[in-house]
Amino acid sequence: MTAIQEIIAQTSAGTKKMLIDGKWVESASGESFVTINPSIGQVLATVALGGAEDIERAVAAARRAFDGSWRQVTPFERQNILLKFADLVEENFETLCLYDTLEMGAPITLTRSRRQRALGLIRYYAGLATTIQGDTIQNSLPGEYFSYTLKEPLGVVGAILPWNAPTTSTLWKLLPVIATGCTMVLKPSELAVLTPLFLGELLLQAGLPPGVVNIVPGHGAVAGAALAAHMDVDKIAFTGSTFTGRKIIEASKGNIKRVTVELGGKSPDIIFADADLDAAVPGAAMAAFGNSGQICSAGTRLLVQRPVYDEFVARVADFAAALRLGNATDVETQIGPLVSQTQLDRVTNYLEIGKGEGARMAVGGARAIEGALADGYFVKPTVLANVDNNMRIAREEIFGPVVSAIPFDDVDDATLIANATSYGLGGGVWTRDVGKAHRAAKAIRAGTVWVNCYAVMDPAIPFGGFKMSGYGRESGIEHIAQYLETKSVIVKID
Ligand code: NAD
Repeated sequence: MTAIQEIIAQTSAGTKKMLIDGKWVESASGESFVTINPSIGQVLATVALGGAEDIERAVAAARRAFDGSWRQVTPFERQNILLKFADLVEENFETLCLYDTLEMGAPITLTRSRRQRALGLIRYYAGLATTIQGDTIQNSLPGEYFSYTLKEPLGVVGAILPWNAPTTSTLWKLLPVIATGCTMVLKPSELAVLTPLFLGELLLQAGLPPGVVNIVPGHGAVAGAALAAHMDVDKIAFTGSTFTGRKIIEASKGNIKRVTVELGGKSPDIIFADADLDAAVPGAAMAAFGNSGQICSAGTRLLVQRPVYDEFVARVADFAAALRLGNATDVETQIGPLVSQTQLDRVTNYLEIGKGEGARMAVGGARAIEGALADGYFVKPTVLANVDNNMRIAREEIFGPVVSAIPFDDVDDATLIANATSYGLGGGVWTRDVGKAHRAAKAIRAGTVWVNCYAVMDPAIPFGGFKMSGYGRESGIEHIAQYLETKSVIVKID
């Protein structure tokens, strides 16, 4: 049996259980749901379906752990757990890649390429675990007082995940919790469950005490909503659509939860006429088509300076036409399927909207149904040309391999169009002129701007949104600050 066949045999055997209080358990209702392999449209795994009662059990376990011995665990011990976890993730990285590839359809070459990112993240947060510190503060109080701050873990965190990059998005939620001494209940997306559950298993092997991390798969409207509204959850860390983000914020009001929301995007990728076009063509194309466009910060609005507009659009279209679509497990595949039938319907519907709005299909524009592709949820990489920034295809997040090419005149025009969006997650600038690059980078209202590259990430560099792309940052020192409370202590010295 090949490694892939072995994993498929193993995922299809029995029902995957949920992790509560250090034990793998059935759902209280006894119900289950299935996940699908989107490359072939067939059932991949059966998973225990968590509901409100399971969330209740999981939150109670997280609270007990938080109030119990986990509070006494030292930074060195938390660091050690994370370092052991990193070693286990390294040993089992191929399994994680296969889970991501089989369950959400990311090409195997893409999931394998994230090795350094995943391991780097874990080891970076292991380092952060020993850096948490308050301040001593001079005061001007009459008499003699000594004042200082303590940084304390926030408490029980509820994390709610999307499906589009299971390994790294799960790590982004687990790591600050463990580094700071919080505890958590994690609700994976119902479309990508295997990776979070496997990471939970590796955490137990690394020696994480029971109840610190609990994982309850289930539907958003039931398990997710129960977690978001739970009165004993201190913070929700959410990644997903802006639509659901609003519901999370709404649900947080009962006990004034801390909330961080990493939401959608419609990021501009600006190509100036003086750019190195040989680098910008593949760079801009993969900024939009990578992971079949299912990346929150994808450069989906391709802003091209007029003198090179026609040439650039034609070259990106040629690049797109040459991309190899296929089963995500095939090492030759560059573009895998969309994650689900629902996502396929959504993206093909936007293609119709684009046609109706008068965009020209420079390439693609339809579902891919040649041969075995017909069984999966494939869409041809699509370049929509002659797009106006006011069209729906330029304003709304499509989350598929579709890019809208919009012409512009100069830097001011480019940044005006770039900022004419309700989102603000990412942006790209391609130019050989260093002054122009800095001017544009400063003017773009977004959490990250890439110059002459796109979607490059590092554990030390904060990532997050402006405007309706959310608030809070993941990665970097700022991230763990969002899992800590500041306590001021004032001592009267006699
Ligand atoms: P989604 O909003 O549909 O679902 C996200 C999660 O929320 C899922 O786990 C879902 O079950 C849960 N959920 C749904 N309804 C809920 C409710 N009422 N209460 C609580 N939880 C609920 O998003 P998705 O389709 O899974 O992911 C794609 C979206 O995520 C895109 O918009 C993408 O841009 C965004 N995203 C953002 C980032 C970022 O860092 N900014 C990263 C990845 C994905």
